[in-house]
Amino acid sequence: MPRYVRFTLFGKPSYGLAQDEGVRPLAGDPFDGGRDEPQGEVLPWDVITLRPPTSPTKIVAVGRNYVDHAKELGNDVPKEPLLFLKPPSCLVAHGDDVVYPEGESELVHHEGELALVIGRRARHVSEADAAAHILGYTIMNDVTARDLQRRDVQFTRAKSFDTFGPLGPWLDTDFVPAAQRLTVHVNGELRQDGRVDQMVFQPAMLVAYVSRIMTLEPGDVITTGTPAGVGPLVPGDRVVVAIEGLGELENGVVGG
Ligand code: ZN
Repeated sequence: MPRYVRFTLFGKPSYGLAQDEGVRPLAGDPFDGGRDEPQGEVLPWDVITLRPPTSPTKIVAVGRNYVDHAKELGNDVPKEPLLFLKPPSCLVAHGDDVVYPEGESELVHHEGELALVIGRRARHVSEADAAAHILGYTIMNDVTARDLQRRDVQFTRAKSFDTFGPLGPWLDTDFVPAAQRLTVHVNGELRQDGRVDQMVFQPAMLVAYVSRIMTLEPGDVITTGTPAGVGPLVPGDRVVVAIEGLGELENGVVGG
């Protein structure tokens, strides 16, 4: 099962294949045909710095895409996907800290989500063709300042603080969404528990829908919404988003 990671070694960014002992560097990246050309020796995990597994031009997020989550915040399920954007500047890697925006927000929430990564440019693609444009899947924590989201009409401020986009740990090109369990634990306590087939709008539909609005470039991310159980994060917390068969994304929260 190919799992691609992005990492830096001596400051130089590269892609590699995740293996038990470490990372096997790639000549290119998973987007340009370099997928199957590992080179050099396996680099042990402790010598590299993990980065988010893609460097997107945009992160398209889908709101209220699980019935139970829409209900818990007092919202109806939208008749068509509710889209918003997160800036690429919010991304951090597995293991990095989420910095609590003290002085700006008093209620920061976790939202564990399945995220898809585009492999081939997509513009006006049909739902039937959409799968060919998805390279693989990863995990996102769509960290949200819930108080600011409620105060503002637009979601931009609430969703966009630096570090509000943990993404990773890898990009898995074999993962096929079905009924896998998605959980979020905070300090070991189960907060969110859903299955990815509970999504209202499924990945292929979302790619087709978004591609009618904006061109999706290789590396772009669509994060597909969160199940019920969103709740607060505070400095000192450790939050783990896990998707069965895909992996675990773990981050700490620090004051800032
Ligand atoms: Zn979300």
